[in-house]
Formats: sequence, C-alpha cells, structure tokens
Amino acid sequence: MTENKIREDAEQVILHTYNRYPLVLDRGEGVYLYDMEGKKYLDFAAGIAVQALGYHYPGYDEALKGQIDKLMHISNLYYSQPMEEAARRVIRASGMSKVFFTNSGTEAIEGALKAARRYSYNQYGENRYEIIAMNHSFHGRSMGALAVTGNEKYQIPFRPLVEGVRFADYNNLESVKAQINEKTCAIILETVQGEGGIYPAEPAFLEGVRKLCDERDLLLILDEIQCGMGRTGEMFAWQGYGVKPDIMTCAKALGCGVPVGAFVLNEKAAANSLAPGDHGTTYGGNPFVCAAVAAVLDIFEKDAIVEHVREISAYLEKRLDELKEKYSCIAGRRGKGLMQGLVIQGRPVGEIVLKSLEEGLIVITAGSDVLRMVPPLVIEREHVDELIEKLSRALAD
Ligand SMILES: *Cc1c(COP(=O)(O)O)cnc(C)c1O
Repeated sequence: MTENKIREDAEQVILHTYNRYPLVLDRGEGVYLYDMEGKKYLDFAAGIAVQALGYHYPGYDEALKGQIDKLMHISNLYYSQPMEEAARRVIRASGMSKVFFTNSGTEAIEGALKAARRYSYNQYGENRYEIIAMNHSFHGRSMGALAVTGNEKYQIPFRPLVEGVRFADYNNLESVKAQINEKTCAIILETVQGEGGIYPAEPAFLEGVRKLCDERDLLLILDEIQCGMGRTGEMFAWQGYGVKPDIMTCAKALGCGVPVGAFVLNEKAAANSLAPGDHGTTYGGNPFVCAAVAAVLDIFEKDAIVEHVREISAYLEKRLDELKEKYSCIAGRRGKGLMQGLVIQGRPVGEIVLKSLEEGLIVITAGSDVLRMVPPLVIEREHVDELIEKLSRALAD
C-alpha cells in the first residue's frame, strides 16, 4: 500500500482527535525513523519523550521477546517475578517506598489523586479533599487528570470535571499560598512543565511548595511523566532540586515503548492511603510491561544513561544558544537536559515543524509558540550537529 492510501484509509476509520503530520512511519533504528518510502528522519521527539533508548537498543528487544515466550499477563491477583524486579528497581532509583503500576500517564495521575485523597480522609475525615494544581499544566485526558490540567480549552467541553481543584501560578509561591485553606489535601505539579511550554520549576518555588506541604501535612505530588527517567540529567528531575515528593507519577519513558506508568509513594503516603479494595487495574504491571521496565532500568544503570544526558545536553544547549543568536525568530531557549524548547516569534511554530520534517528531522511543539525537543537520551554529538544543520535549513526561509 502507498503512504497516500494508508493516510486516506486511516482517516476513514480512526476517530479524528489528532491533526496528524503526514508521515507514515515504518521502522526505527538507533535515533532514526524511516517512513514507508525509506526516507530517513532524525528523531528529536522520541514518540513524545517515550523512546529514551531510541530504537532496538541492545538488550531491550531480547528482554521483551524472552518474556513473550514465557508469560504476558496474569492479572493482579497473583505475583510475578518481573513485577517484583521492576518495582524494586524503581524504588532503588527513586529512594521512595512503594509502586503501583498503571497502563498510562493519565492513570498514574488518577491513582496519585486517589492516594492523596485517601491519605487525607484517613487522617482528617471527609472535608479535606481539595487539590491545588498549576495553570498551564498538563496531567492527562481522563476526567481526574483533566480536572488538574490548567488549560480551559481542554476542560470546558467536558465539565463538570472532578470537583475540588484550585489553580495557582507555576513558579509563584504566593499564588499557591493564596489557594490553600482548611480543605486542602495536596498540591500537584510537573517538576518541569512539558506540554505547557517547557518551564523548569525554580528551586526556591519547589522548596517553598515543599515547606508549605510539610507545615500543613499536604501531600506533594510531582508529575515526572515527561521530565523523569533521566531526561533532565537526573534520574528524576526532583533529585536535582533536593526536594522530595510524597507521591510521584511516571510513564512515557518508563517502559521505552510499552504502555506502562506508575505512581510511586514515600513511606508516609504508602502506609496511610490506599488499602486492599481501594484501587485496582486488570492490565497494570503485567509481566510483559514489567519485563520492559526492568530491562530499561537495568540498561540505564549498566550504561550510565543519566551521566550521558548530562554530558550531551551541555553540548546541545551550547549549539541551540548559537542558533538563537543567528535567527531572529528564536526569542529564547528554555529547558533542562534533553528537554529543550525554543520560543518562536513572528512565525507559526507549526510551519517550522513541517519544514523540519521535509528536511528529515522530527521535532514537535509545546504550548502555542515553543519548538520542543525531547530526543532519545542516547543521542551523540554528531546527532546534535545534524539537528542544528537541519533546523538551520528549516529556519532559513
Ligand atoms: C504525557 C503526560 C501525561 C499523560 O500521559 P498519558 O500516557 O498520555 O496518559 C501526564 N503528565 C505529563 C507531564 C505528561 O507529559
């Protein structure tokens, strides 16, 4: 079948909730993707920050194939060794206490919100349930996650959403304080805002929020779904701030391509929130996805992926800053590690993305005016150079 036919046929049968780019992607190798006609693309999107190890990283496919041959799924009524191993590795990497595996990021958020409310209910009874979330945040599309997503465009057609959410401004401690009252039970935020436009938390803000939470026994939920798993040069972005969450959410790169997420609790939250019967999932944490999580974390450790991010991102930042000096349509750069955004002025960012695709470079957008780069963590200098070369051509006309 030709690419055109596939695109047309897909539009007949797939619900139109995405305006897709015209690519029909067929296979991947390393940090490159190929369409059906064999055109090669340097991938600086990584399936939206999922493919942290790129495509066919040594050892990853083998671990998954081995698990397929043994056992895919058993339900959460029983134990499995892959689940134990995956959870143990997440605990070791985070220094937290307990894991609940989900099938997606949005489900990890739902679980985190339920755990926070359950904690508060156990300690303080029925009337302490409010959650403070941030403007311009993104936490997912299910009703609870949408309720804490600070973007009216996503929310309005689906109201009423989950009740008891108040919004504050990110990186503005006073505005968070102003939303706290006797009903507040938790504060949720992304350690680095992703979809909203690549905004890292300021250290004083994150420290201040942690302090507010400690003073009032509010649970701090840090959403690490996009910024976690090594992307910022720390295994989890909060580790670079010295501020610990009570609950953290993971997904995207956690399984590097298999659908898996998790909410991870510290000892206090784990011991005093969800109990048997409070929460569940049929698929969540099945042996297949957990074999992937275990393999990913094993590779991260063995091959020092996080250390590599620190090295290569310094070079990426330098090259992007040079690019910014050359092109007046770049108003600024924001980001941490391999989560970078260029703020575009005077022309639509979508146009630059399309031009990049023509040049054989995959980049995406964030917010209304940010060109977002979230490449596989295994890129090398030569790939950064190739990015700059292709992006320069896309920006030139
Ligand atoms: C992608 C994302 C989500 C939602 O994850 P899904 O797997 O798409 O449900 C939640 N929070 C953040 C920060 C994300 O980037």
